Amino acid sequence: MRTRFGVCQRKRRYASEAEALEVAARADVVLRPYRCALCRQFHLTGRTKGMRVPQFVLDRKKEEESRGA
Ligand SMILES: [Zn+2]
Repeated sequence: MRTRFGVCQRKRRYASEAEALEVAARADVVLRPYRCALCRQFHLTGRTKGMRVPQFVLDRKKEEESRGA
C-alpha cells in the first residue's frame, strides 16, 4: 500500500508488526497492520481489501464456530 506523507505523519507508528497486531486485536474496529514505505515502521489501517487476515482473526473465528455461533 502506498502511504502519503501526511498520512504517515498523522498515524501512530509501531516498531514491529507484532506490536501493531496486538493493538489491532484489542481494537473495537477491524484494523490491519501494514508496513509504511515512508517510515519503514507499521501503521494500522481500517482498509482490509487485499490485506492478509491476521492470525488472531482466524483464531477468533475458529473459537466462535466451536461455540456454535
Ligand atoms: Zn509511516
